[in-house]
Amino acid sequence: MSDRQQRHQQAMQKLKSHVDEKVATATEQRGLLLVFTGNGKGKTTAAWGTVTRALGYGYRVGVIQFIKGLWECGERERLIEDPQLEVHVMATGFTWDTQNRDSDTAACFEVWREAERLLADPEIYLVVLDEITYMLKFGYLDIDTVKRAIADRPPEQSVIVTGRNAHRELVEMADTVTEMQDTRHAFDAGIQARRGIDY
Ligand code: ATP
Ligand code: MG
Repeated sequence: MSDRQQRHQQAMQKLKSHVDEKVATATEQRGLLLVFTGNGKGKTTAAWGTVTRALGYGYRVGVIQFIKGLWECGERERLIEDPQLEVHVMATGFTWDTQNRDSDTAACFEVWREAERLLADPEIYLVVLDEITYMLKFGYLDIDTVKRAIADRPPEQSVIVTGRNAHRELVEMADTVTEMQDTRHAFDAGIQARRGIDY
């Protein structure tokens, strides 16, 4: 065996024992709370990717789209064909267009009721609260209400929260937190959001 090969094999063995050790210490099994936040692109895409993963095993999934719900969304069009998936979208759509606090709050509440129902249903394996961070930021929903519903969910259920500027307390209670970093975005170079890529 060459020197290089031997070094590679040793490094791999070390890595494997490190991973094995980690796997052995991870003994707990339960649903997770994941937060996808940060300014970079990929939060909602990652959430839908996980939805696809769960649906792939036949699990039931609920997605709530706060703001932007009335926008086109390619993955929703495709995945909604799956009877195991239910999607609820906030009726007023993009809040910066409507600029009506009362109707936005009402629309938010309506869709939050669906979220609460899903978060209480042990048959639902995964719940996605897409862009809910803005509802907390605008004060349409209060953090204690959201925290309680997430904390009281069935133990086997996982929840994904997406959106920029995630509330500190949500970040604290999450098992997995990913911050998408905005290294560069085409939009800043004047390139339009692209169908099938950005939505
Ligand atoms: P995506 O839906 O592509 O995963 P996201 O959920 O991380 O993006 P949002 O803040 O929800 O990001 O933005 C929604 C839209 O804005 C998408 O079309 C997305 O591609 C685009 N976008 C995301 N990040 C940026 C950015 N840093 N600058 C400009 N546009 C962005
Ligand atoms: Mg998003």
